[in-house]
This record gives sequence, structure tokens and C-alpha cells, in this order.
Amino acid sequence: MRAFQDAQLARYVAEYLYPFSPYYRGLFDRVGVRPEQVRGIDDLRRLPVTRKSDLLPTDDDPQRFRQFVLQPSKETIRSAWPLGRKLPLLWQSLTKGRPFVEERLRKEFYPCFMTFTTGRSAEPVPFFYSSHDLDRLRVTGKRLIEVLGLDSETRVANVFPYAPHLAFWQVVSAGFEAGMMVLSTGGGKVMGSSGDLRAIGRTRAQALLGVPGYVYHLLRKGVAQGADMSSVRTVVLGAERVPPGMKEKIRALLSQMGARDVKVFGTYGFTEARMAFAECPTPDSGEYSGYHLYPDLALFEVCDPKTGEAMPEGEDGELVFTPLSGRGSTVFRYGTGDLVRGGIQYGACPHCGRTTPRISSNLTRESSLKDLQLLKVKGTLVNLEDCAVILAGMAEIEEWQVELVKKDDDPLEVDEVVIHVALRAGAEEEATATKLRNAFRSSIEISPNRIEFRTLEGMLRKIGMETEIKEKRFLDSRPVR
Ligand SMILES: [Zn+2]
Repeated sequence: MRAFQDAQLARYVAEYLYPFSPYYRGLFDRVGVRPEQVRGIDDLRRLPVTRKSDLLPTDDDPQRFRQFVLQPSKETIRSAWPLGRKLPLLWQSLTKGRPFVEERLRKEFYPCFMTFTTGRSAEPVPFFYSSHDLDRLRVTGKRLIEVLGLDSETRVANVFPYAPHLAFWQVVSAGFEAGMMVLSTGGGKVMGSSGDLRAIGRTRAQALLGVPGYVYHLLRKGVAQGADMSSVRTVVLGAERVPPGMKEKIRALLSQMGARDVKVFGTYGFTEARMAFAECPTPDSGEYSGYHLYPDLALFEVCDPKTGEAMPEGEDGELVFTPLSGRGSTVFRYGTGDLVRGGIQYGACPHCGRTTPRISSNLTRESSLKDLQLLKVKGTLVNLEDCAVILAGMAEIEEWQVELVKKDDDPLEVDEVVIHVALRAGAEEEATATKLRNAFRSSIEISPNRIEFRTLEGMLRKIGMETEIKEKRFLDSRPVR
């Protein structure tokens, strides 16, 4: 595997990345690395980690994203590709004509589809796909289905939001490639949760795929309406980190609607990768296999998040991503900001026996919250992921939102943290508030100034469930100075 990846990487750098990517050609030249010096994974350390900030538009270059799109020309192809790759093109040009060759190259390189990063305050960055990349999206979709233990007979309800985001399209592509019945409802904003519930009921869907917060909301509504969900066997969550208590909560709701032995899986993917990875079935609901990677299409390093140095095998660090087959928008040594505990495992999976590498399910997804992740509140840096883990994990809490305000709405006053909570039926306000304060104090060292209890209806309106593409879990209402 390693020898194969080394060869793929060397070829990708020499024949695609360096000659065709304006950004990386410039970067290689700046740090004084020749493309032929990258002979394998060990040579990656010669190059700096690319950060999300490198992709963002600047005053000088408002269309910075273009720098990352592979842009071959006749001249660069002629000088970069070895004879073995050019001869077939020449032959086809003679036998089938130049338009045939032009069309073939166009299919490989010309952007024909895009998704966007979903930063909360930063400009969204477009990522382009060529036909070649769309083929890969189908391939990775099919692999996802296989790893999850589903097959082409499975009926799928895809409730990911209909948007130019990876998750929705990865599932759609999986269905096309596997020849599987996928009903893509577009999520709550398009058909409404009642429409989604009817669709799941009518198609007798066996697998339900969506964003954790919305899937949970949908199932809760299903219980309230007395829906029959006995056909559901599998729930696949994506696009966001799955809080620890969430899988259990989902299983409990489904069992109330007649579904038994439901498996709940997490997936890992991000816009810049243009592919997603899944966990495989484990015998115990509390056991996670880790995300199975595709070593022929991409490689991951685990690096020190500060220095970008590769960590020894098995140690914690930041996941750094390098594609081996991408066209269109291409990143290289991309620092995801996601921290993995236990590094990458290379042994056979104890559950399914696959020998592809796996990244631990114990992943802190910083990428989904990148621009709000660390907020200075009352002089302490607060990781909002940690807040989410506490709130979503508490059985007493149905829905929640963290709001940052200024005391008395005065810009010069101190920060205040307000936690809005809708309680589960039967839970007590006082006891929950105490538990919540203790959990906050012990794990993030701040105490909320106020905890406000709301009705479930009011809470759903406040977080924009079914009206926003992404629920608003964190609201910064501090007035701008
Ligand atoms: Zn496995």
C-alpha cells in the first residue's frame, strides 16, 4: 500500500499538481522544492501545510479559489507529461481527430460542478469538480455504502439539506453508482419534517441519512405523530460531529416507533476532500470501528497542529489531507483542523476485516466550526465544540442554543453566556440547571451567566430548525463596537 501511495503521489505531483496548479507551482518554487524531489510520503514534510486561510479571498486576489484549480494548457501538458502518456493522445488525435482528444481532456479537467465550504462567518469558498471528479464522487459513494454494510437493495431516505454541500451530493452519487433506490427529500427546509416523515413511511425506507440535529428532530416529531418507522435498520449521520449521547438518543426514539436493532453510524468528510468516509458495523452499539479510508484516492498524515511536523505512528494530532487523484480544485497537504486521538490505524479492521487504514472515530471536528471555534469569553478561550458535547449529551435536554451577549447590551460591558434550553418531558429545571453549571465549570472552566428555559416550539424557532440550512447552535449577539 505504501509503495503504491508513494508512486501515486510522485506521479500526481509531477504530472498534475506542479504543472497545472498556479497556487502550488508558486508554493513549490517559493520553498525551493522541485516536483521530482517528492518521491513519496516521506518527502511531504518538505512542504508547508496549506491552511483554510490560504484559500480565502484577499484584497489583491478576490478570486483566490481559482489559484487552486488545475489548469492545463497545451504547452504545460507537452512539457509535464511523459511520452507514455502523450503518445496515446497523439494516436487518438490521428485516428479519431483532434476534437476527440480535446473532449477527453475537457472531461478530465473542465469544472462542471461545485460545492462550497460552510464557514459560519467567513466567505464560502467554492470547490470545483470536473467529470473525472464526479466519477470519483460516485466511486467513493459506492464504497461508503459498502463499508456501512448496505447494498443495492437497501431503500434509502436522504434527508441531508439540498444545498451545494458535499453530504447531499455524496449520497445522491452513491445511489447512482450502486443502482440503489435513494429518495432525496432535501431535508426540512425543502419538504418540511412532516413531508419527510410521510416519504419515509411510504417508501418503507431502511436507511436514513442526514445531519445529526435534523435527524433527531425528525424522529422526535415522528414519535409525537405516532409514525411507523419499523422498516429503519440503519441511520447514517454526516456533515457534523456526532455528539456522544446522540447515537443512543436516536436508537431510543426509533425503538418507540417499532424499529429494532438499529445501527447508527458516523461519517467523516469535508468540502476540500470532495469525498466522505464511514464507520463499519460493530457488534456493540457503543463500539466504533473508526472511519475507513481510501488509500488509492487520498492519503492522510497526522501532524503536530502547531508545527505541521508528522507525529509518530499512533499519536494524537491534526489530520492533514492530500488527494492522489483529484482534478478541478485541488489542495495539497491540507490541514483540516480536525484533531484525531490515536492517529491512524493500519492493521486489519477487527469488525469487517478490511485492510484499508482507519482514522479513529474519536475525532474533534474543528473544521465545521472553524471561525467560531475558539471564542474569548470573559477572558477565557472557549471551545464551542466542548459546549456542544455537554449540551447534546445530556439526556434531560431536548434542544439547546448558546448565545453570547454583552451585559445590558452595552458594547463596553463584559461578555455574558446565556444558554437556552428546552427540557425533555419529565426533566426538572432546577436539577438540570445545577447539572449543567457543574458540567460547564468542570470541563470548560466558565459558568453560564443565565440558563433560560424555553418551550420546545420556541426553541426550534430560535435555532431555525426547518427554516435554516444549518441550525443555529451558537449565536453571537454581542453588539459590534
Ligand atoms: Zn471495518
